[in-house]
Amino acid sequence: MISQNHRLDQQLIEREDQYMATAARINYYDLVIDHAHGALLTDVDGNQYIDLLASASAINVGHTHPHVVKAIQEQAAKLIHYTPAYFHHQPEQQLAERLAKSAPGTDNEVAFGNSGSDANDAIIKFARAYTDRQYIVAYTDAYHGSTYGSMSLSGVSLNMVRKMGPLLPGIVHVPYPDCYRTLPHETEHELALRYFEAFKAPFDSYLPAEETACVIIEPIQGDGGIRKAPAEYVQLVYDFCHQHGILFAVDEVNQGMGRTGKMWSIQNFPGIRPDLMSVGKSLASGLPLSAVIGRREVMESLAAPAHVFTTAANPVCCAAALATIDVLEDEQLVTRSSNYGRYAKEQFLALQQRHPKIGQVRMYGLNGGIELVKDQQSKQPDPEFASDVIYAAFERGVVMITLKGNILRFQPPLVITKSQLDTALAVLDEALTAAEQRLVKRPRG
Ligand code: PMP
Repeated sequence: MISQNHRLDQQLIEREDQYMATAARINYYDLVIDHAHGALLTDVDGNQYIDLLASASAINVGHTHPHVVKAIQEQAAKLIHYTPAYFHHQPEQQLAERLAKSAPGTDNEVAFGNSGSDANDAIIKFARAYTDRQYIVAYTDAYHGSTYGSMSLSGVSLNMVRKMGPLLPGIVHVPYPDCYRTLPHETEHELALRYFEAFKAPFDSYLPAEETACVIIEPIQGDGGIRKAPAEYVQLVYDFCHQHGILFAVDEVNQGMGRTGKMWSIQNFPGIRPDLMSVGKSLASGLPLSAVIGRREVMESLAAPAHVFTTAANPVCCAAALATIDVLEDEQLVTRSSNYGRYAKEQFLALQQRHPKIGQVRMYGLNGGIELVKDQQSKQPDPEFASDVIYAAFERGVVMITLKGNILRFQPPLVITKSQLDTALAVLDEALTAAEQRLVKRPRG
């Protein structure tokens, strides 16, 4: 166990509480990060932590990777910014080409933005423009962002929408397949069909398919709890879209860039080629850069200035993104995500044997949702227990947060070493025990 001294942290936190809006922060516990390398964080008091969050999957190649840092420094010394709305610069051109070629399909174009949220807004814009239709189908429990468009696509929490309505009209939510809380004895095939019926239900009553522009899905949900939709279900929805001229859009903001053991999460579903795809977070290793990548014909459906941001495609961010993709390739981090993910899954399943409050272990690459429940039979979420676990882990030098209150979110930088992973798992074992024995004293409720 590391020594914990939070003297400096506390001073800074008190000052920050005074000046920062609460709407911009979700409080798990107080941590003031000073510097970070690879999968290790150091706080302002000198305490060290293993990072199992990677800044919400935004640092897949690890913190301050030397190649990324060098690219940023060199680009910043040459050109910090010139808006891409008017003139060109090399990093933007190179990155557009690299992303267009990396995504499924052979005729992609790219439009840049500043956040995952605006990339999802772009999906709404391009889909409506191309199809000349207004309705969009999105999923319950999905998180797509914080701008009005992406917030309207999201189905995640009441605080996202309270006091802010009305949201964007024309968005219909359908249930995302839940492979944990299934019907008794239900097979994956039956589950896929049941959720496909639920997907079709609005089309049978109030939603005209011929007026529907697109379906937006995370084939593996991130903030929704790291959940994978059955391949058969995704295929059925994809085929339905094709039959009705509805675009198929995929949000890769959380699950892209190697997180799932493939470069793009949709590549876990062979034969599916999205019409539109949003990318962000790890794209530029956490610098503000996003992109929507889509079929040329779709992307050509809007004319300037329909999707112009002054600071989009910032050259420093683009240089960071090019370096980030280099690192993913050179260090074979996508394969590493897959291999280490398999190992982590085995280890979490072993923990489940000793800790019956672990209801389900889901892992797709180095990308896990560990669902904590009151008991295996009821599968009732246990957010109190989960809060204790992450706090106990934090006290012991591991940074991790929850999703939906009761799901441990496991998304370490893909460069995490085997020994760091083993240490973190041993700490989680201890943290689970401490929470079981009600030994955790959390300062904030
Ligand atoms: N889409 C998904 C799937 C996300 O997980 C997030 C962020 N959690 C976003 C979009 C929004 O990205 P940003 O916070 O960069 O706007």
